[in-house]
Amino acid sequence: MIPVTKPFLPPKEEYLEYISTVWDTQWLTNMGPLSVQLEDKLSNFLKLENLLYVTNGTIALQMAIKALNLGGEIITTPFSFIATTSSIVWEGCTPVFVDIDENSLNIDPKKIEEAITEKTTAILATHVYGNPCDVVAIEEIAKKHKLKVIYDGAHAFGVEINDRSIFEYGDISICSLHATKLYHSTEGGLIITKDQKLYSKLKSMRNFGFAGPESFSELGINGKNSEFHAAMGLANLPYIEGIIQKRGELSARYDANLAEFKSRKPQWYHQTLQNYAYYPIVLESEALLLKCSDFLKKREIFVRRYFYPSLATSLPYLPNKSLNITDDVSKRVLCLPLYVDLTIAEIDMICSLMLKCTD
Ligand SMILES: *Cc1c(COP(=O)(O)O)cnc(C)c1O
Repeated sequence: MIPVTKPFLPPKEEYLEYISTVWDTQWLTNMGPLSVQLEDKLSNFLKLENLLYVTNGTIALQMAIKALNLGGEIITTPFSFIATTSSIVWEGCTPVFVDIDENSLNIDPKKIEEAITEKTTAILATHVYGNPCDVVAIEEIAKKHKLKVIYDGAHAFGVEINDRSIFEYGDISICSLHATKLYHSTEGGLIITKDQKLYSKLKSMRNFGFAGPESFSELGINGKNSEFHAAMGLANLPYIEGIIQKRGELSARYDANLAEFKSRKPQWYHQTLQNYAYYPIVLESEALLLKCSDFLKKREIFVRRYFYPSLATSLPYLPNKSLNITDDVSKRVLCLPLYVDLTIAEIDMICSLMLKCTD
């Protein structure tokens, strides 16, 4: 059986070494020593200041919207995971879907301006598959119209453009450290902001809004994570560079094998250090996609229609909105199996099967 993804697990002894310190300190959660250590190590690794380790990526999004005091309409992409949209609705705002760019599969900055109204307060864009959005164009629009920018960087751990972490962009960026993501702490999330005031506010919000033992500065929530989760993050971190490199090699093999296949890859932002979080392809037709996934499934190889369907046409709590490119691409996009212990031989087999199922 070949699944579409497989969570990485560190050597058990290395994880248990961290866990055993919990018995020494008797500190289980509430930003104990392991969580603090994880934040420090991640700040160093990603070359970022003001990074907060939180419960998960969804809470990170909700806290970002709350901390920026957003209301009204938030312009966003329909080609993302559900949490991008649901967080907007959960925070009492209205998502306004803007179509994606056909090549990058990220929100199309050229279409953002026409969606801006008096009620627009922010842009929430996803770096889909870890491919950076056009951050320069988005920043320009945001400045011109005095909008806030949040980046859903759930897929973008380790991604850089021009030697800087992609998380430096926007008012706030978030990342997910969920088990299925490239780098994980079982469950977990990150919030990053360059704004010192916003950072302090988010830090207090993460801990119920406490300012001191008996005082409050904010409306807060329980956005903390436990020492057990931080232990997983710490045990995984030494392996991440090797993981990214290996995934890069596997992706290159797919590229070579599938050169003649009737599909294309998303176009990556220029000067990007990639993280190979996924291996997405856009097939020539939905019919070919269905035929192919079925063919592979019969041989216990599992691919994923990620993202399908469009968020703008599938949510019971929002009116449907058709968008040409998103509707079309979401029907034809597929993520192929990619995880660190997948072998070149397995990729060759997957690809030869795919090449056989052209119509
Ligand atoms: C996984 C994911 C999230 C949610 O992160 P969790 O840590 O699972 O809450 C948000 N946005 C995108 C694009 C994701 O893929």
